Amino acid sequence: RAKSNPLQRVCFYEAGMDERIRERRALAADLRDAISQNQLMLHYQVQTIVSTGSIRGFEALLRWKHPKLGQIPPSEFIPLAEESGLILPIGEWVLCTACREAVTWDPPYTIAVNLSAVQFINADLPAMVRKVLAETGLAPERLELELTESTIFADRERSLEMLRQIRALKVSIALDDFGTGYSSLDTLRSFTFDRIKIDRSFFSATAATTQTTAIIRAVLALGKSFGIPVMAEGIETYDQLSMLNAEGCEEAQGFLLGHPVTVDDIVRKGQIARLHGGPDGAGAVDTT
Ligand code: C2E
Ligand code: MG
Ligand code: MG
Ligand code: MG
Repeated sequence: RAKSNPLQRVCFYEAGMDERIRERRALAADLRDAISQNQLMLHYQVQTIVSTGSIRGFEALLRWKHPKLGQIPPSEFIPLAEESGLILPIGEWVLCTACREAVTWDPPYTIAVNLSAVQFINADLPAMVRKVLAETGLAPERLELELTESTIFADRERSLEMLRQIRALKVSIALDDFGTGYSSLDTLRSFTFDRIKIDRSFFSATAATTQTTAIIRAVLALGKSFGIPVMAEGIETYDQLSMLNAEGCEEAQGFLLGHPVTVDDIVRKGQIARLHGGPDGAGAVDTT
């Protein structure tokens, strides 16, 4: 059998690699047209206040509907966009689309947008954010940019300066996926954030509940001493939600509270009304 012959196994492996590389290249080439072909869209996932169950805001999550392959998850195409530099125009499209959308919302909830490391080290980022806020008219206090530790890790000196410039715009910054990076505590020590988001892996089906509770307590203590709220990500069960409530965790996000959905679905659920018929300006408040 082929498997018992190391040489054949190597050949087989390399043939598979070629195929994978070809697929990735083809996908990267397709991504180039995704904006102009209207294949990108944003879904919005609700972020709630644990103690009251009320809505704090929504996180924008990018979706790509490939004309032949269908929905491709961000974990697959964001790395491609980063390698090719396409993340810069795509990231600008995301920010612009999310802000243009959120400015029509009633009530005026917050909107969280994820930033890639490649965007974050781009010197034009603060100017781009300022331009988008000016063009869309969104109040900067309503915008939150989500960064992961790996985003910041690349170049700490530059990151400090970048964060300073972004916070000067009155836009807030959340530390996303907290607890999974190389130096979570050092990151908290060196940078100023407005919010900590505990990574959803702590709430996975395999995570032991006593350990999870211990970690939540520790992160909540950190949040308290920094004077910033903590949001738990990936909340899927009532047990998790009531544990968060008992521990005093301020905010939560997860499938239990709402899946990422189109803005029309949010309107339909009655979570928001649109002030002027949405970004395309179709008319009066949407009451469907
Ligand atoms: P993230 O920023 O940590 O976003 C949360 C991810 O967790 C989303 O996956 C969301 O669908 C998923 N999620 C939310 N609640 C639950 C839950 O209860 N259970 C489980 N199992 N998953 C949950 P998604 O949309 O596939 O996005 C994955 C990652 O891709 C994001 O992680 C973010 O890092 C990145 N991403 C998404 N949109 C953008 C974007 O516009 N720009 C950039 N640079 N990155 C993005
Ligand atoms: Mg995020
Ligand atoms: Mg996250
Ligand atoms: Mg993530």
